[in-house]
Amino acid sequence: MSERGMSERGMSERNTDVDEVIVAGGGPTGLTVAAALAHRGVPVTVLEAAPALSTEWRASTFHPPTLELLKELDVVDEMVSRGLVADKYQIRDRVDGLIAEFDLSVLAEDTEFPFRLQLEQYKFAEMLAERMERHPLCTIHYGHSVESVEDDGDVVTVTARLADGTPVTRRARYVIGADGARSAVRKSLRIPFSGHTYPVRFLILSTTSDFAKVMPDICYVNYIWDPVEPMMLLRIPDVWRVLFSIGPDEQEGDLLEPESLRRRVAQVTPERGFDVLSAQYYSVHQRVADTFRSGRVLLIGDAAHVNSPVGGLGLNSGVHDAFDLAIRLARHLRDGAAPEILDEYASRRREIALEFVRRVTHRNTTMMIEQQAEAREKNRREMRAIAESPERQREWLLESSMISGVRMASIGH
Ligand SMILES: Cc1cc2nc3c(=O)[nH]c(=O)nc-3n(C[C@H](O)[C@H](O)[C@H](O)COP(=O)(O)OP(=O)(O)OC[C@H]3O[C@@H](n4cnc5c(N)ncnc54)[C@H](O)[C@@H]3O)c2cc1C
Repeated sequence: MSERGMSERGMSERNTDVDEVIVAGGGPTGLTVAAALAHRGVPVTVLEAAPALSTEWRASTFHPPTLELLKELDVVDEMVSRGLVADKYQIRDRVDGLIAEFDLSVLAEDTEFPFRLQLEQYKFAEMLAERMERHPLCTIHYGHSVESVEDDGDVVTVTARLADGTPVTRRARYVIGADGARSAVRKSLRIPFSGHTYPVRFLILSTTSDFAKVMPDICYVNYIWDPVEPMMLLRIPDVWRVLFSIGPDEQEGDLLEPESLRRRVAQVTPERGFDVLSAQYYSVHQRVADTFRSGRVLLIGDAAHVNSPVGGLGLNSGVHDAFDLAIRLARHLRDGAAPEILDEYASRRREIALEFVRRVTHRNTTMMIEQQAEAREKNRREMRAIAESPERQREWLLESSMISGVRMASIGH
């Protein structure tokens, strides 16, 4: 059920009700938690600030345990049919080429999805939204920007604003902040977002040129190490995407010029004169909220933690948060489990964000940008040794594909 452009009168008539669960933010993690709650019989209302779903590319990798979890939402077949199966990934050196190739098919005994699925996150969100708009227990209100939440112990009052400035108040038994890295819910509760921002920023561009034609030995996912200009070359269904780091002092305006972008990319690929469909900057952070629960309000996804994108763990771990929380919240609301079950969500998922996601993404990032020649050489030797040993390769892939992190977290248990 969707209520795009719902009238003010309609809203005020519903304001007297107390919703079971309100989700602030209709991004991929907000829609996942809504779908997983509705699937368990819990009515849920999503308030999304934007007038429609975002079409930003952003994340583009889905790891095996994420696909396993998503199976219950009947979305994986469509994801696989619209995405690209990447059963290998490479670590390369900008100058010397291939360092090591990892083959996810060695995980065939560990998962029914022994690959990474390359698919734009907005297509995933679209698939969930379509299903939720038909679901009798879910309502999505677009154009509702949440400004604050206030928990009186029995109920949470959510204040939002419509695009025309009209304030709207709703009440709910529980509120989930899935409103992204700048979360208004987290800020309203004054929960610190502790961590650091890397001095380098990433610039990400997309192009229809096919790098595989000029670099036939590359895979769909390639991490290119370099002390000055590390890059990621990622194939998604419609385009190739190139992420590269830019120094803190580089001027943004000039860098976005197509000629300047081409000059940079020409350093790793013989492809010349390719088109630039889009290019944008973003800062790279490692931040984790000091708590994921404050009374009846819970945080998930980027509202709870943001990470370096090297390895593609950010969105995936947000989806894992969404399932863990939906399972526990449904047990509390439907099956009478004590509310302390939600503390388990908060402590377990925060520990995973710190001990697994932050550790792995920080390691991936520092190896890619390592400045010391000796350390770089040691890292290369280590990667080659791992790729050459079947047992070590499997252990490495269990971690980089998040299987060991999800086992550690034992989601919902
Ligand atoms: C360029 C880029 C590349 C990335 N690549 C990867 C990758 O390869 N792999 C990976 O795993 N991760 C990647 N990430 C991270 C990934 O995109 C995020 O982890 C993911 O989007 C988090 O989903 P989310 O739903 O928690 O938050 P978001 O996607 O930020 O969604 C938040 C939603 O809340 C809405 N909202 C915001 N404020 C309010 C408000 N006040 N009230 C109501 N609604 C609100 C927004 O409009 C949005 O729809 C990348 C991020 C970027 C920026």
